Amino acid sequence: MQLTNRTACIRAEGFIRQETAKFQTAGLLIWLGHLGRSSLSVRGSFRRRNPRILAMVNPSFALPVTLRFPVLTETHSDGQMQWIHDEELAGTLEELMVWTFFHEFHHYLCYTRQRTLDLETRANAFGFEMMRKFKQGRDVHQHVAKILEPALSPAQ
Ligand SMILES: [Zn+2]
Repeated sequence: MQLTNRTACIRAEGFIRQETAKFQTAGLLIWLGHLGRSSLSVRGSFRRRNPRILAMVNPSFALPVTLRFPVLTETHSDGQMQWIHDEELAGTLEELMVWTFFHEFHHYLCYTRQRTLDLETRANAFGFEMMRKFKQGRDVHQHVAKILEPALSPAQ
């Protein structure tokens, strides 16, 4: 694994190094950077060939910001599907960085068969789980806020 950090997110980098060490990451490139000229708070991507994770945070984005993403889908007896969202307040760029990185790391872990279910909802849930662990400095079980909404838009 090779990690390049072009941000001041030193605590996030330490946490990422600590948590990724629990998995096989040989050959993985990680780039932590800033997102400029964007209305987004974060952007991440995972490239499969020559595996590479980009995790970018926007230093000019007003904080705190509530991250809110679908983590589960539920199908009701009438066949209607709903997203179940989770949300968590990100107060620092470090926390945004951790969420973004571990969302992408879930995709990497599925690609390398170290986790199952390569879904956006699962990646979002992993981001929340690791961000809470980072915020609280200890292991926490994922808490899913049961906020039900019609499943009208695709997962992000
Ligand atoms: Zn994703």
